[in-house]
Amino acid sequence: MLQKKLFIGGEWQEPEKTQALLSPYDGEKLADIPLATEEEADRAIAAAYHARKEMRRLPAHQRAEILYNVSRLIEENREEAARLIAMEAAKPLQTARTEVARSIMTYKFASEEARRLPSEMINMDAAPGGEGRIAYAVREPAGVAAAITPFNFPMNLVAHKLGPAVASGNPVVLKPASQTPLSAFFVAEQFEKAGLPKGALNVITGKGSVIGDKLVTDDRISVVTFTGSPEVGIGLKNKAGLKKMTLELGSNSAVIIDKGTDINAIADRLVLGAFAYQGQVCISLQRIYAHESIKDEVIRAMKEKAGSLVYGHPLDEATDVSALISEDDCDRIMEWIGEAESKGASIHLGGERKGNIVTPTILSDVSHDASVSCREVFGPVVHVNGFTDWQEAVDLVNDSDFGLQAGVFTNDMNKAFHASEQIEAGGVLINDIPTFRVDHMPYGGVKNSGYGREGIKYAISEMTEMKLVSFRKGEY
Ligand code: NAP
Repeated sequence: MLQKKLFIGGEWQEPEKTQALLSPYDGEKLADIPLATEEEADRAIAAAYHARKEMRRLPAHQRAEILYNVSRLIEENREEAARLIAMEAAKPLQTARTEVARSIMTYKFASEEARRLPSEMINMDAAPGGEGRIAYAVREPAGVAAAITPFNFPMNLVAHKLGPAVASGNPVVLKPASQTPLSAFFVAEQFEKAGLPKGALNVITGKGSVIGDKLVTDDRISVVTFTGSPEVGIGLKNKAGLKKMTLELGSNSAVIIDKGTDINAIADRLVLGAFAYQGQVCISLQRIYAHESIKDEVIRAMKEKAGSLVYGHPLDEATDVSALISEDDCDRIMEWIGEAESKGASIHLGGERKGNIVTPTILSDVSHDASVSCREVFGPVVHVNGFTDWQEAVDLVNDSDFGLQAGVFTNDMNKAFHASEQIEAGGVLINDIPTFRVDHMPYGGVKNSGYGREGIKYAISEMTEMKLVSFRKGEY
C-alpha cells in the first residue's frame, strides 16, 4: 500500500495525519495520503518563500533545462503516469494516456517559453518631455505562487501551474484535489530528479477548506492560481486581497449546428465532446442548439455513436466510460435528469445508473431553467434543442452565467463571423466542438467561467510583474 508523504523544502516529510484514498470506481483503497494541518501548510509556504531568491537568480537556460527534463522523465514513465491518473480519477486508461501526452507537451512549451520571457523597448520620446531617455520593460517573477488544482486533469492542470511558474522563476506551493494527489506527487518526484532547487516546489495535500484558506490569505504568497468550481473560486477571490489571481472555472458549454452541416461527419466529435471522461471536463459539451431541420438527425447520429460506448473499470483497455468522481455526483446528476424530464424533456439515450456510472445521456427539448441546461452538469449529459433563426441560436448560447468556450458548425462565413463576434466566451471555435484545447493557446473564461488566462505564455504574464527601467542620458 502506498504511504505518501508531504513534499516540503525538497524533502519528503512524514505527515501528522493521513487519510485513505479510495478508488471512485469500486472503493478499493489506493493509498494513505497526508492530511496537511495549517502548521504544515505554513512550513510549505516558508520553504517556498525561502527559495524565491534562488529561483529569481536561476538563469533562463537552467529553468528551461529543468522543465525539459521533467517532460522527458514523464515520457520515460508515461505508462505509470497514465495508470495513476486512471486509478485515482477513474479516468479510462486510453483517456488518461492522452492526458499524459498533453502534460509532456505542456512542460515542453513551458521549457521553450522560459527562454523567451517577453521584454520591450519603450519609446519615451513619444511624449513631450520624454526625450533623452532609453527605457525598457521586463517581466519579473511575482513571488511565491499558491496553485490549487481540481480532480479532472490531475496531471495536465498541475502542469499548467508548475510549467509557467518555474519558467518565470516563481516558487510554488501546490495543493492538488484530495481525490487526485498521486499524480501531483508523481510530478514532484520528476521535478526533484530534474534538478529543481529545494523549496521551489512544495506539495501539500489535505482539505481545501483548511489549507486553501491559509494559502490564499498568507502574506508571503503573491500569486494564487486556481482551477476548480466557480463556488470555491469566487470565494477565494473575495479573500485574496491584492494578490495576483487566475481563476479557471466551470461552464455549460454550447455548440450551434447550422442547417447544411454534414451531421455524420461531426457525430463522433459531438459524442467525444459530451462524454469524454464521463463529461467531467470544464469545456464538456452540454448544450447543442441544432437548426430545427436537422435536429432529429443530430439526435439519431449521436445516439447511434454513443450507444456503442463501453462502460467499465478505468484500467480496462476497452472502457470508454467509467465511474463519476463521487456517489454524490451520481445522485445529483440523476436528480437533474429527473427534473429536466418533469419540465418536459425527452430522454433518447441513457438516464440510468450502474453503480457509480451514469450512462451517457442524450436529452432533447430541455427547458432553459432546468439544471442540466443553466448549471454546470459535469457529467455525461447533453441535450439537443432546436432553433430557427441564427440570432436566436447565438442568444441561446449567451443565455448563461458562464462563458468559457463555444463551438459553431456552419458553412456560411458571414454566420461564422457574426457568431464569433457576438458570442460571450473566452474562445469561439468555428467548425469544432467547444471541448477542443491545445496547451499553448490562450484559455480562460468570461462571466462566472473565470478570470485571467492560461496557456503557458499567457499564464506567465499572470505570474510576473512588469518593471520599467529608464536611463536618462547626459548629466543629471
Ligand atoms: P473544486 O471542488 O472547486 O476543487 C478544486 C480545488 O479547490 C481542489 O483542490 C479542492 O480541494 C480545493 N478547494 C475546495 N474547497 C476549497 C476552499 N474552501 N478553499 C481553497 N481550496 C478549496 O473543483 P473540482 O470538483 O475538483 O473540479 C471541478 C470543477 O473544476 C468544475 O467546475 C470544472 O468546470 C472546473 N474546471 C475548470 C477548468 C478550467 O480550466 N476552466 C479545468 C478543469 C476543471 P479538495 O479536493 O481538498 O476539496
